[in-house]
Amino acid sequence: MAAHAVRAEAEGSAGRPVRAAFGRATGALWACLLLVAAVAPAPLRAETAAPATAAKPAPGQPAQALDARLAGDDQRTRMIIDLSRTVEFRAFTLANPNRVILDLPDVVFSLPQAASTGRRGLVAAYRYGAFAPGKARMVLDLAEPVAIDKAFVLEAADGQPARLVLDLVKGDAASFAASVATAAEARGAPAPLAASAAHAHGTVPDTDPRPMIVVDPGHGGIDSGTTGASAYSEKNIVLDVALALKTRLEAGGRYRVVLTRSTDIFVPLSERVRIARANRAALFISIHADALASNDGQARGASVYTLSDTASDSEAARLAESENRADLIAGIDLSEESDEVAGILFDLAQRETKNFSATFARTLVGAMKAAGKVHKSALKSAGFKVLKAHDVPSVLVEIGYMSSREDLKLMTSEAWRDKLAQSMGEAVDGFFTPRTAGITGSVPDAPSGR
Ligand SMILES: [Zn+2]
Repeated sequence: MAAHAVRAEAEGSAGRPVRAAFGRATGALWACLLLVAAVAPAPLRAETAAPATAAKPAPGQPAQALDARLAGDDQRTRMIIDLSRTVEFRAFTLANPNRVILDLPDVVFSLPQAASTGRRGLVAAYRYGAFAPGKARMVLDLAEPVAIDKAFVLEAADGQPARLVLDLVKGDAASFAASVATAAEARGAPAPLAASAAHAHGTVPDTDPRPMIVVDPGHGGIDSGTTGASAYSEKNIVLDVALALKTRLEAGGRYRVVLTRSTDIFVPLSERVRIARANRAALFISIHADALASNDGQARGASVYTLSDTASDSEAARLAESENRADLIAGIDLSEESDEVAGILFDLAQRETKNFSATFARTLVGAMKAAGKVHKSALKSAGFKVLKAHDVPSVLVEIGYMSSREDLKLMTSEAWRDKLAQSMGEAVDGFFTPRTAGITGSVPDAPSGR
């Protein structure tokens, strides 16, 4: 048996972020006890183990999560994640709705397809995936308030892989509320998302007169978006479309293009808006795919949405609510969101931006109509958070319904995606042509003169 043991510190009902450290036990005794703890939820306090020394992560490859499972009942529930090697992690709670978050380093999730993420004991559901550069996350939705009783990592031993073990015990609403991590704790020390994303995407110096277009593939990482009960994820389809659109837009050399994400990574909604503003975008295009529940009938075709305080119809309201859940799904603390947008809704800049957004939305529907299927009422509006840059004309395109077999067949075809990107590119050309035709010097930040 390996002489390594693992220590968890600062855990318990206080529920503040739990930091796991890894120690070298003086003998096999603690490893044995910890192994027992992993098999049966026993009230063992792992932090009384031998003093910890700094963990030495294996160089090179990121750790892999090989399997995950829930055990226990509605009094005590255990999450076990099998790992290719030990990792450091943090566990903390978030409210509204009640969640437990496990923050991990660059762990790649390779769970078996059959791994159930459904309800068990105190956990209603869970999901996992990339969260930020070098960070992965698991989010557990809670069926009831809990306390984090234990959280630790075990070294591989006796033919068992390394494991992360999280023990939750039934709690009450008051102590859960008291345990909730502060916003700063929830973000974690080294990872201001804004900073890392800004670094990844850069902020372009404003000497280039060409219009900047920010293309925003929806969802990503831990947030898969919808599936429409298919084997595909919205996040992958819309990334492919965004990459095709970027290629189309850059081909003519007329535009600069920035993607809010170019890999399978989670980007908060507010960060997408920030990227558009930081790059002084002349246009922001968010790309999504819709799906209807199986008992909600059939619908096909693309739709284009703009921002409005009141949804144009109940369908648009339903969609905005579902798209706005992205941050919550990824375990972001929504209470820390600033209300920066509220005060500027009636700003003149906002009104002008709205007009540009509406103009582009109409142009886009026209171009996509020529290229293929659009929804019978293709122009709609609702309160999408991602469209709230008050000085950037912004639209959100739902390229079709993943719940429609015909639409899904198109979306998963590279030829169709290229055709779609082509028509979207034509709409962008149409939007900017009157403006760029007479250009001799610099271009204003937002389209004007239309
Ligand atoms: Zn979406």
